[in-house]
Formats: sequence, C-alpha cells, structure tokens
Amino acid sequence: MASQKRPKEHLKVQKVVKQRDGYKCEICGQVTQNAHGHHVIPFSEDGPADLKNMMTLCPDCHKAYHKGDLHVDIWRF
Ligand SMILES: [Zn+2]
Ligand SMILES: [Zn+2]
Repeated sequence: MASQKRPKEHLKVQKVVKQRDGYKCEICGQVTQNAHGHHVIPFSEDGPADLKNMMTLCPDCHKAYHKGDLHVDIWRF
C-alpha cells in the first residue's frame, strides 16, 4: 500500500463521504464496506478536504478510474 501522507482532515472526510453515500459506488451502484473515498480534484493538486470534492467509489471503479479506463462527468453530481 502506498503511503502518501495526507492531513487528518482528508482521512476524516473520506470516511464521512462513504457514510453519506452508504458505502455505495457512485458509478456502478455496488455497496461495499471496502468502498473508497475518491478525491474529485486530487489531493496532489490541492483538492480540498471537502465533501463536495469527494465521491464514493467501489475498488473496481476506483482502479478503473485511475487507470484512465473510466471517464466520469464529475460535475453532474
Ligand atoms: Zn463501482
Ligand atoms: Zn481516487
């Protein structure tokens, strides 16, 4: 597991967003306890620790997204 250092607020908000969405992937609708909190604007690009900047993705969609297989119109949410 890569250990990119993130401020505490990011970890906290990733948990909050998953709870908000009920651990349901916003792309395929799969509900999984392993859901990931994804930064719409990446943390590395100064994406804020803000619920509006987070979405819940299942591990499959998250992987596909970062591989570039998946293109989401993020602003429709
Ligand atoms: Zn999914
Ligand atoms: Zn992500």
